[in-house]
Amino acid sequence: MLKPNAHYGDLQESYLFYNIGQKVQAYLDAHPGAKLYRMGIGDVSLPLCPAVIEALHQGVADQSVKERFHGYMPECGAPFLRQAIAAHYEKRGVKLDPEEVFVSSGASDELGDILDLFDRSSTALVLEPAYPAYVDANIMAGRKIVHLAASRENGFLPAPTEDLDADILYLCSPNNPTGAVFSRAQLQAWVDFANEKGALILFDAAYEAFIEEPDLPHSIFELPGARTCAIEICSLSKTAGFTGTRLGYTILPKDLQRGGMDLHAMWVRNRTTKTNGVSYILQRGGAAVFTEEGQRQVMENLQVYKNNARTLMKAMEQLGLWYCGGKNAPYIWLRCPGGLSSWQFFDTLLQEIQVVGTPGEGFGACGEGYFRFSTFGSPEDTEEAARRLVQLLGKN
Ligand code: PLP
Repeated sequence: MLKPNAHYGDLQESYLFYNIGQKVQAYLDAHPGAKLYRMGIGDVSLPLCPAVIEALHQGVADQSVKERFHGYMPECGAPFLRQAIAAHYEKRGVKLDPEEVFVSSGASDELGDILDLFDRSSTALVLEPAYPAYVDANIMAGRKIVHLAASRENGFLPAPTEDLDADILYLCSPNNPTGAVFSRAQLQAWVDFANEKGALILFDAAYEAFIEEPDLPHSIFELPGARTCAIEICSLSKTAGFTGTRLGYTILPKDLQRGGMDLHAMWVRNRTTKTNGVSYILQRGGAAVFTEEGQRQVMENLQVYKNNARTLMKAMEQLGLWYCGGKNAPYIWLRCPGGLSSWQFFDTLLQEIQVVGTPGEGFGACGEGYFRFSTFGSPEDTEEAARRLVQLLGKN
């Protein structure tokens, strides 16, 4: 008889956004037609930029003509897109072989699939609070997970300690949920630690495009030593509004070896076995993001979210609430006022002012007492949510 993967039984019963959805639905059932201000889940609200739309149309037109039609695409990505991404990195001083760029259907897929490269006995380190998929993907694989607590004291950017014993190190910068960003020196400490211990960093750079300060690293490969200890997982979801269109990329250097095995060659073998590549049309759309015009347009969209961040940060400051993030990241991470737990604060905001945020506790135990606002909503909703927050909390 088939034995199912019993590790699924170790997963927490319900997912954070599922719980939020249930509570929101219950509120709407009790208050039909109520208008909600959704500052919770991190989905974008602006459409794809014109350069991407034009390239997608061109891709569709190509598929209608025998001479330009594309069937199966190369499993690891179309050369035109791999080259465009490598050229984009080169502008930041990071030299990549285009074959080190793997085109994907998004970061979530990659964060799960990449674990195929590692033995199940390896231990994963998660800096908490964390994006929930890191933990769940490893629980499904039966891996041991070690947690390192981030806190207000370390700016939600913990440093490695000598006694840390883990093989796969998840780092996310700019961070979801805290919006904290590693400085060069802080990230270098992790690179040096990984090289020294023979560990491997999975660097989640899904929010790199939000970095404004020139000295903060967008890519881990800006740091010496990263080519022998890191894999970078990127996404066009938040950078360019591809959440529903699905496109991402992973950088896996050819220098990466562990236990006498070549991880780049292993990943090529994995992709050529488990995928048949990403659609030609989408890759055409993705390549447009890396053109001069595409970059100008996606940055214009990001400015809208950055203005939302400024609106919310102003409200936090007016209220004297402790927060981090918002400047180089699309998330604001704040301390719940009045000693409320994060779910109590969630309920208060939903019931009193119809604002929906994300309880910090959903990102791990040390997120308790904190709360996340996303800045991906419309400017109108964000301004109204900020006004309501100030009105409600300014009373106390
Ligand atoms: N990594 C982080 C930190 C995220 O917040 C998200 C999405 O919210 C993802 C990865 C997944 O991105 P994608 O839409 O490319 O699957």
